[in-house]
Amino acid sequence: MPLLVQKYGGTSLGSKERIEAVAEKVIAYKDQGNDMVVVVSAMSGETNRLVAMAQEIDPNPKGRELDVLLTTGEQVTIALLAMALHKRGYAAKSYTGAQARIITDSRHNKARIKSIDHEKIRRDLKSGNIVVVAGFQGIDEENNITTLGRGGSDTTGVALAAALKADECQIFTDVDGVYTTDPRVVPEARRLKTLTYEEMLEMASLGSKVLQIRAVEFARKYEVPIRVLSSFEEGEGTLITTDDEADETMEQALISGIAFNRDEAQLTINGVADTPGVAYQILGPVSDANIEVDMILQNIGADGTTDFTFTVHRNDYEAALASLKQTAKKLKAREVTGNNRIVKISIVGVGMRSHAGIASRMFELLANEGINILMISTSEIKISVVVDEKYLELAVRALHEGFDLKSES
Ligand code: ASP
Ligand code: MG
Repeated sequence: MPLLVQKYGGTSLGSKERIEAVAEKVIAYKDQGNDMVVVVSAMSGETNRLVAMAQEIDPNPKGRELDVLLTTGEQVTIALLAMALHKRGYAAKSYTGAQARIITDSRHNKARIKSIDHEKIRRDLKSGNIVVVAGFQGIDEENNITTLGRGGSDTTGVALAAALKADECQIFTDVDGVYTTDPRVVPEARRLKTLTYEEMLEMASLGSKVLQIRAVEFARKYEVPIRVLSSFEEGEGTLITTDDEADETMEQALISGIAFNRDEAQLTINGVADTPGVAYQILGPVSDANIEVDMILQNIGADGTTDFTFTVHRNDYEAALASLKQTAKKLKAREVTGNNRIVKISIVGVGMRSHAGIASRMFELLANEGINILMISTSEIKISVVVDEKYLELAVRALHEGFDLKSES
């Protein structure tokens, strides 16, 4: 019998009515002859509400107690969903993460799953139960309750699918799949039928918030096919899978999607000595200040000096600038400049591996719009450019059009 793991997000469970609608949906799949394991999030807004309540008592609550509190959100939805299934005449059992023996390490608020003892779930399935498991939570070896980080129910779903060797892990959410780009910027953006794990990881780390990044990493490692689907509309969603599987169904597009990030800032230090250790002297203090650096660029030296540019999250701009000014004094650099009105735009696609000329096509499309490129970086399946924020919409639309992403290939 096919085995499906389905995960429902908070919006899909946001009210009593919606929980009942999820029960109907799960039953429809069960009636088609699937064994069903259902992973749920807390009702939408609930986790935030619990965090706020904790902070009213202690602005810095201990991770262990915060986890005890936050896991209650999912304990509510597993129970209610199981009841909704019972009411409809179906056998169902709810489990918290601890009861499902989802064993994690002891890092509270960001624990990682180490193992899942799935024998009990298998027995329940065998006797006809729909198994409902709380997402986002587990238990460490000392029996402390843990959580997996915000959005962690996705990871619970994928981990259970891996442990149970499910046929698919279906993630039900409020969008009907992964799109070529954000439809709010490009109304013609199209839902992708398939995407590889690598592409999804790039899209996710670039700001497409459909799935928790760790869940995609987990799925790639264990080759769990993930399908992103809407809870509210019928459809096939987007299948995220291995290169080979994706190839079979594709869509042989060169570019799969365009991601962008509005929260970037750029800093430059000009005229530093072109000698060993300079990059370290510049970035050491930045990382000591816990500031994450994204793109890094150093010019070819001339006259014994060089320029060094990097980008950080916009929230870290002031702190990074202060650090860089300190360093500039020490290194007797000529000047420090910065710009926190920039954005990063990236084209992503495994098709790039086998095709030359994609970068130049991208630069041509931007040039045609008169858009100046401030920085460029590339990886095997991604090309990113930094441009002035006023060009964001124009650039994304030009690339979407130019790479013909709106038409079904
Ligand atoms: N309820 C948790 C959160 O809001 C986990 C999840 O929804 O995936 O982060
Ligand atoms: Mg969520």
